[in-house]
Amino acid sequence: MIAIACQHEDAKKHGKSRKGDQCWKCRTCGTTFTSDHRRPLADMRIDLDNAATVLGVLRNL
Ligand SMILES: [Zn+2]
Repeated sequence: MIAIACQHEDAKKHGKSRKGDQCWKCRTCGTTFTSDHRRPLADMRIDLDNAATVLGVLRNL
């Protein structure tokens, strides 16, 4: 869940996890995460966009 707190795009490779997944470290805030955590983050952004659209519709009612 740490990755969700970091939405920076600028990350560099940071070794590998025990599972062998590529690890990344954010250059901006120093948060480390694996590439597997990167995809849920992208999904989360879509959900947030959808949520914002819904809220916009509700405001217009
Ligand atoms: Zn960050």
